[in-house]
Parts: sequence; C-alpha cells; structure tokens
Amino acid sequence: MVLADLGRRINAAMSDLTRSNVVDEKALDSMLKEICMALLESDVNVKLVSTLRANIKKQINLKDQAPGVNKRRLVQKTVFDELCALVDCQSENGDAPAFKPKKGRSNVIMFVGLQGSGKTTSCTKLALWYQRRGFKVGLVCADTFRAGAFDQLKQNATKAKVPYYGSYTETDPVAVAAAGVARFKSEKFDIIIVDTSGRHRQEQELFAEMVQISQAVKPDQTIMVLDASIGQAAESQSKAFKDSSDFGAIILTKMDGHAKGGGAISAVAATRTPIVFIGTGEHIHDLEPFTPTQFISKLLG
Ligand code: GDP
Repeated sequence: MVLADLGRRINAAMSDLTRSNVVDEKALDSMLKEICMALLESDVNVKLVSTLRANIKKQINLKDQAPGVNKRRLVQKTVFDELCALVDCQSENGDAPAFKPKKGRSNVIMFVGLQGSGKTTSCTKLALWYQRRGFKVGLVCADTFRAGAFDQLKQNATKAKVPYYGSYTETDPVAVAAAGVARFKSEKFDIIIVDTSGRHRQEQELFAEMVQISQAVKPDQTIMVLDASIGQAAESQSKAFKDSSDFGAIILTKMDGHAKGGGAISAVAATRTPIVFIGTGEHIHDLEPFTPTQFISKLLG
C-alpha cells in the first residue's frame, strides 16, 4: 500500500470511531485493528506495529477516563502522537542536537548508500539547499568504482552551480576524497559534501572503503541515503550500513513515487537514526526537511 493510501485508511478508521455512538473497547479495538493492518500492509515492521497498538491502548485506557473527557479527541490525539513517535528518533536522542553546520569552519558531510538509492542526486540537492542559505558549498566525488560517476556528479553540480572536485585518473577513492576535502578546506568552504561509491565487487569491500574514507575525511555528519520504495529490505540494508559507517542521519528518497514507506520507517526505528530530509522528485529542488509532526499531518491530510 502506498503512503497516500495508508493515510486515507488510518483516517477512515478514526472517522468510523468518531462517528460511532459509543466509544468503547469494542470500537477502539476495531479501529486499532484497521490501523495496524494498514501499517503492516505498508511494510512497517510487525514488532513496531504491536508496540504502537499497545501504547495507544495503554494511553487511552477507556475505563479510567473521567466522565467529562472527550474520548474522540483523546483517541485522535493519541493515534497522531504515536504515529509521530514511530518516525521520530530525534527527540529520544535528547542531548544530541541535530547536526547544524557551523559558520567559520569547514563542515564535512559524507554520503553513504547503495547504488541507485539516489545518493548523487541527494548530494547535489543538499549542496544547493545549503548554498541558497548562504553557505559556500563544494562537492567531492569519491566514487572511483563506477565509470561515469564523476561525470554524473559534474553534470549535477554544474546544473546547480556548485563547485565540484573529482579525478579521471586517480583510482584510489580515499586519495580523491582526501584531496577534494583538503582543496575546499584551503579555499575556506563552509560545507564540503563527499559522495562515495554505492557498489563494489563485494559488499565487504564497499564497507571497508567507507570506513577508510571516513577516517581520511573525518566527517562532521554522515548521511545514509535510503530509497523509500525498497520495502522491508530497507531495514537490513540500513543495519548493515550502520554497523560500518555509523551514519547520524538519513535522507529518504523517492517519496514522490509509489513508495510504501513503511519499510523505511522501520529502518529508521531499527537504527534509531533520524530522517533529516526527504527527496520528493528527480529535480534538484525536490528536497524537503523532515519533521515528524509535519510528515504525519500531511500523511493524514
Ligand atoms: P546513486 O546511484 O545512489 O548515486 O543514485 P542517483 O543519484 O544516480 O539516482 C538514481 C535514480 O533515482 C536517478 O534516476 C534519479 O533521478 C532518481 N532519484 C533520486 N532521488 C529521487 C527522488 O527523490 N525522487 C525520484 N522520483 N527519483 C529520484
């Protein structure tokens, strides 16, 4: 089920409850059953769904509500809050504030993710996003594995009018990454975005390369790019990346298409890492900051 349908189904389940004559356990259970079915059909992990169900039941606790309480409103608010909690990993990180580039120094952001996830596109989108907010941004192509990777980044960067760095001759990605970052640092760039390879002969080599690049460029922020349309595979994929690159944020791409989205929501929960932006199209401006409450409000229309 695609995300728009998920929103409609959750809304319909809540409307059924608010229209029913009495808000009792039976009506509540039938609403919860419908919401949980919809979430499962959108690929949200079964454990997360059952936790959400238990949390809602516990908080609503119909027997112990005072007579004056507006139960319908209570149900709506609780469902909304629990859906937000499902996609919110920032607030639970408590003291670890969201990454914000600091002015007056070079901030390095490294991108990781599988080939095809939308990594290069997202690098350019983010570069442009910061550039439009007054930062001096440079893009480094550290993907020497895929022929054509540098040309793609160059093309994107040129379109966005963002300075770029890469090499047609250097085959060591760590060397290119280090040289690119050093160049932009010497030129006092505020933000340096490093795009890395998304594929290798073997997965282990890809992860080893990520670790080496990370050690060389010492990123202030590592972002994993995740294709929202890959369903349940998102969870194991992001766990594997988390183990080697310990990314601190996620960009979910292709949220405009027929993404079920639930797999990605589960990936967020499995890695306890916040989504910071979502990609909503192929165009360089199609990037939106992600906030749980806005996302859920929009989902429920
Ligand atoms: P990479 O291999 O991870 O660097 O992936 P690319 O950046 O080359 O993107 C792969 C494909 O996904 C390209 O055709 C992009 O235009 C497309 N793409 C990337 N982000 C989005 C998005 O948010 N929405 C849509 N519809 N397509 C996207």
